[in-house]
This record gives sequence, structure tokens and C-alpha cells, in this order.
Amino acid sequence: MSAGALPPSLWAATAPPAPPTPPLAESRRADVLIVGGGFTGLSAALHLAEAGAQVCVLEAHEPGWGASGRNGGQVNPTLKHDPDELVRIFGAERAEPLIDAVSGSADLVFDLIARHGIDCQPVRNGWLQLSYSEKDVAGLHARAAQWARRGARTEALDRAAVAARLGTDTFAGGWLDGRAGGIQPLAYTRGLVRAAQGLGAAVHGGTEVTALERRGTHWHASTSTGASVTAEQVLIATNGYTGALWPGLKRTVLAANSFIVATEPLKGAAAHAILPRGETASTSQRLLLYFRKDAQGRLLMGGRGHFADPGGPADFAHLERSLELLFPQLGPLRYEYRWAGRIAVTRDFMPHVHTPAPGMTIALGYNGRGIALATSMGRHVAARMLDAGADFPYPVSPIRPIPLHGLQRFYIAGGVAWYSLLDRLS
Ligand SMILES: Cc1cc2nc3c(=O)[nH]c(=O)nc-3n(C[C@H](O)[C@H](O)[C@H](O)COP(=O)(O)OP(=O)(O)OC[C@H]3O[C@@H](n4cnc5c(N)ncnc54)[C@H](O)[C@@H]3O)c2cc1C
Repeated sequence: MSAGALPPSLWAATAPPAPPTPPLAESRRADVLIVGGGFTGLSAALHLAEAGAQVCVLEAHEPGWGASGRNGGQVNPTLKHDPDELVRIFGAERAEPLIDAVSGSADLVFDLIARHGIDCQPVRNGWLQLSYSEKDVAGLHARAAQWARRGARTEALDRAAVAARLGTDTFAGGWLDGRAGGIQPLAYTRGLVRAAQGLGAAVHGGTEVTALERRGTHWHASTSTGASVTAEQVLIATNGYTGALWPGLKRTVLAANSFIVATEPLKGAAAHAILPRGETASTSQRLLLYFRKDAQGRLLMGGRGHFADPGGPADFAHLERSLELLFPQLGPLRYEYRWAGRIAVTRDFMPHVHTPAPGMTIALGYNGRGIALATSMGRHVAARMLDAGADFPYPVSPIRPIPLHGLQRFYIAGGVAWYSLLDRLS
């Protein structure tokens, strides 16, 4: 991996400037070394530094270069599994703390933004999850009821209620998750860097960790700059950009591409009638579409992409067509930005935490819902690093590579074809 500039995107064009994060120039010691400068690593760094630990974050490119600086900015405090399903899978004793952590994860994001004065256009107007089919609306209403039983502010919405919020009657219904909201994700990432630095954390960009070696009671990290870090504990937080640093880790996730387009700022009554209350939105299909407006009134649409990185505007045509089909009243749209990034999909659709050696923690696999979850994960990993006996809500598992992972591009292509068939049938 060679250090690269941020890929062009709406977020890269509109975020406040990045705080300085120069490459690691001199070898040093730290209590905790964090590999990866996204939400997971930076939230862990901030919470560790807040507790007085000496933290060093090493990022191969610049913080936010990965998914954290490229995502849809939808802060959703949910997993792919519903609360009752989590209780069935894990039993109530293990599931309830997990459900609480997930449920509180958007609060954590918005609290951090407020507490550290992060300039990232936060809005907290809820998330609409929508279905095209009458048949699936009951399931979404049941989801709303499950979260409401656990204290979340939710609303079950019928076709007319969705149409009033959305500006289209395409959807048969859905639900509103009042805990959710939207942010400018690269601005949030940079705000986390600034906050962590303010608390004493060292954050270095342009510094790839090339090897980790156990030496006595410590970890020794070699880096692309030639300088090294020695630390008691290490967190690997490389998600969809995981390489060969830890044996087998890359093979535990499918690094799928998600693509996004953003229109130019929209004006006029037709544009104002779309999401007038400022919610974020996504469909509940297996191959979901996610959309929202940004602070300047651009419409963003995200969804699946092919495994390879996009080669040009034609690779985004399916998203532009989806947006224009959804809101034909806007007429032909002009697009200002098109970009993509990698999410980490796990086999069980759960985030994964591994502790494969003394002092080594790995956290990844947010399945496209990592703004709130990765921020929460970072906080809980930090607490566990400070006190091994601390309550830890996320399941810890051994590293289990996905069989025949070398075929991941075919898994993803096959999954896209299969899911698209199922979506069409339903
Ligand atoms: C297009 C897109 C849209 C998305 N939309 C949403 C959304 O709307 N809502 C939501 O909740 N989630 C969304 N997600 C998912 C979310 O962005 C991720 O789950 C989250 O950012 C993961 O954060 P992270 O810190 O674990 O990983 P990342 O942000 O991917 O960071 C990993 C970092 O590790 C670095 N790295 C890798 N190897 C090394 C090494 N050896 N040495 C040093 N550094 C290394 C990489 O350069 C990278 O910057 C989306 C993702 C994408 C790609």
C-alpha cells in the first residue's frame, strides 16, 4: 500500500482542513498503538487519551482516507439483526448489553460532536427505512416496535406518511428511527483527530504498519517510514482496507465496494418537497439504496458497485437511474461528485472482535453501518484495554477465514446477482 491523497468526493471537497498528521519520523514508545485512522481507531484513541494513556495512531494515507471519510454520513444505531433476533442468537444475558451499546451508539456520536465542538454539519432528524412491497412493511413495523420497547423513539409509517416525508409515493411504507441522524463524515473524522490530539494522542498519516512482532512483553511495529513503535497493546482497526498485517485477518471479511453519487445543489419547490424534514433514508432490500440531502441541498444516492474500483462515470449509471426513477419530478439531474469506498462484510453480519495474542485487539466488520458502531466499538475497546475486566458488549471470536476467500470478487458478484433476483421476486 502506498500513501495516497484522499480520493475526490463531496466530503473531500467540503470538509474543514485536516489537522496536521505528519508521517512518523522517529521511533517511539506508546502504551497503545492503533493501526488505522478511521472511526474505530480514532474513537479508541480519543477515549484512551482521555483516560491518560499514551496513544499513537498510524494511518497509511491520511485519517479518513478509508471508509470513514467516504461514506453516506448516515448515523444509524442498528445492526443488521433486530433486537429479538440478537436475543435468540446470543441469549438475553449476552444480547442485552450488546443491544444497549448499539442503541446508544448514535447518542455517543452526537455527544462527541457536541463535547468536542466538531464542525461536521450534524442533523438528528431520524432515519427512514423503506419498503417497496406491502408484504415487507409489516416486518419494518415489527422492527420499529422492537426498538420502541427498548426505549427508542420510532414511528411506523404507511404509504401516505412516507410519501409526505419523502416526496414520492413509490414506497409501500416504512419506519422512522428517531435516534438516527446525518453528518459530514470526513469532517467528523477530522474532528475526532483534532479532539484526540488535543487530549495528547499522536496521530501520524502517511505511515503504513508493515509488520507486527512480539518482543518480550511488548509489540514492535515496523513502518513504511523506517521509524518504529513499541507498545504494550495494539489495536488493528483496518476494516475494509485490511491487508496482510495479521495472518488470516483479510480473509475474514469481504471487502465490497459501495458507490455514491451527489447531484449539484437543488433548488425550487420540487426539490424542497423531497425529505423536507431532513431525515436520512434507505431501502430495506437486500441490495439496498441509501439516500439523503446534504447541507447545501444536494441529493446523494448510494448503493452497490462492482468489486473493482470504479473506472469512470458509466460505473455509477445504475445509481443515477435509481435517483431519477425515484424522483422523476426533478427532471434530468446534474451530478457533481461520484466516488466509492470499501465496506467489510462478515459472514454473520456482525462486527467482529478478535484477541488472538496477548495485548492484541482487532475490531472490524461493520457491514456498511460503521459510523455509530465503529465509534461505539472504539470506545468499548478503549475501556477494555484500560481494564481487562471492563464489561464489553461486543462478541469476541477467533479469527475464522471465509473458505475460498480468494474468490471474493466472485462471491460478491454472485451475491449481487442472487440478492437482486430475490429483491425482484419480492
Ligand atoms: C461508500 C460507503 C458508504 C457508507 N455509508 C455508511 C453510512 O451511511 N452509515 C454508516 O454507518 N456506515 C457507512 N459506511 C460504513 C462506514 O463508513 C465504515 O463501517 C466505517 O467507516 C469503518 O471505520 P473503520 O475505522 O473501522 O475503517 P476505515 O475508515 O475503512 O479505516 C481503515 C483505515 O486503515 C488504514 N490502514 C489499512 N491498513 C493499514 C496499515 N497496515 N497501516 C496503517 N493504516 C492502515 C486505511 O488506510 C484506512 O484509512 C459506508 C462505507 C462506504 C465505503
